[in-house]
Amino acid sequence: MQNHEKLVIKNKFANKFKSGYPLIFKEAIVNVGVLKQEGTIVTLVDENENFLGRGYYGRQNKGYGWVLTRRQNQTFDQAFFDQKIAAAIQYRSALYQEETTNAFRVFNGEGDGIGGVTIDDYDGYFVINWYSHGIYQFKDQIVQALKNATTFKGVYQKKRFDTGGKYIDDDDFLAGERAESPIIIKENGVNFAVYLNEGPMTGIFLDQREVRKTIRDNYANGKTVLNTFSYTGAFSIYAALGGAKKTTSVDLANRSLPKTIEQFQINDIDEQAQEIKVMDVFNYFDYAMKHSLKFDMVILDPPSFARSKKHTFSAAKDYKNLLKQAIAITEKNGVIVASTNYSGFGIDKFKGFIDKAFKETHGNYKLMEEFSLPADFKTVKQYKQGDYLKVVFIKKIN
Ligand code: SAH
Repeated sequence: MQNHEKLVIKNKFANKFKSGYPLIFKEAIVNVGVLKQEGTIVTLVDENENFLGRGYYGRQNKGYGWVLTRRQNQTFDQAFFDQKIAAAIQYRSALYQEETTNAFRVFNGEGDGIGGVTIDDYDGYFVINWYSHGIYQFKDQIVQALKNATTFKGVYQKKRFDTGGKYIDDDDFLAGERAESPIIIKENGVNFAVYLNEGPMTGIFLDQREVRKTIRDNYANGKTVLNTFSYTGAFSIYAALGGAKKTTSVDLANRSLPKTIEQFQINDIDEQAQEIKVMDVFNYFDYAMKHSLKFDMVILDPPSFARSKKHTFSAAKDYKNLLKQAIAITEKNGVIVASTNYSGFGIDKFKGFIDKAFKETHGNYKLMEEFSLPADFKTVKQYKQGDYLKVVFIKKIN
């Protein structure tokens, strides 16, 4: 039997939960001391004992757990999980029909009604990401719900518990058959090598699918493209397939070189005609300035926080300066693709950075288009931070 506790919510936050806010956060809780064992079911009531919702206790960087229902008589039995997983799969039916794409998100945490867990489908292999010990207590029901709702080749899990950024190195294989290393998935007709047996990073960030397609279909043809923080080079592959004159990929991780070569090769692109640099992006900017290198397209997709030997980068503090450096090496009428997955600021603040960066460099620009998360990364409007992705295509006028 699951533990069960009554969690008293301060009256001033009662309306927030009543209107559907899903995250249980410390500041709202009167009796935080009752929370001991992760996975405990909690019934949220206000200080006058009015029912607000029911959920579970699980510690994430974000909070103390998630509300899963606002129905007073809802229990979290197998039928509850079956219904959530089946509805999520149904919601992606258009993507399941898509012949050119077989990798996408099938369950997006609170967006699909259960915060703390996401599930991605890589050509029939499910990868479950658990974000707390609390949600992990429901593992058997969630895996069973997948089995009840659909067929699959195999199931993997990644434990992304809050352990100060450290990955828990377990065997990730859960059910079905093991995947090859790598499997080759398809996205918009592009091949991608994905590694399911080797730790937390699968090699591709599925939330950029539409941005990659836009670069390939509408921007890359005939252009020189600089892809910074390039990782496995996903944007470079799409740019090359879209007819880019040349791509340059820059990432300081040693693994990025063989991985990027591999992605070019499985798409029949001659990697010798492309440039792949293992180096600090900030040193690359200096190098480009010194050699008067300029690009028709510069892609910026930094992590929210990064520390290299000489530089620390935080999106909140340093994105404007990153933009200024990019502007300096972008051709007139060139395009900067500015991306961030930092949930601490929204699109308006991000556009503010863009505006400041151009003002401070005495340049003019035009916003061409913008992207947030694609439909398979379902979010709820009550929880804005869940819609973390911001990508803006900016044309440098002069
Ligand atoms: N744009 C990539 C994802 C980037 S993930 C894609 O589309 O797949 C962030 C990457 O930034 C990591 O690969 C990391 O190695 C790299 N990185 C972090 N700090 C860096 C720095 N100062 N210079 C170059 N690369 C950096």
